[in-house]
Amino acid sequence: MRSKRISILAASLLMSVLFVCAHSRQIQELEVEKRCRIHGITLEKGEAPISYGMPVVDNVYEKARLKKFPNANSRIEGGCEVSADSPKIQSVFFCPQCRVAESEWAVKRRKRNSR
Ligand SMILES: [Zn+2]
Repeated sequence: MRSKRISILAASLLMSVLFVCAHSRQIQELEVEKRCRIHGITLEKGEAPISYGMPVVDNVYEKARLKKFPNANSRIEGGCEVSADSPKIQSVFFCPQCRVAESEWAVKRRKRNSR
């Protein structure tokens, strides 16, 4: 009986340690993501429109996004299910310089595609 109580105590202690470790790792990851790795500036809190429906995979955009403007966060994929009360805007952290780079990239892409 006593050994069972001790093993339950040890298990709950282990779970607490694992929870604290996982939690502190999440906090560290959030700390790292506060700065844009491309522009080195602190991310700002803002909003982005949520688009619903089947997401269109644009490999050219994704490749450019990862390399040039990873923290633009100018739009959010809301998934396929949408209802009348689905939110249209979501709070996001973004890099203002990434949004500028994304806009410039989009203009260049339109010019390239219209030739
Ligand atoms: Zn940036």
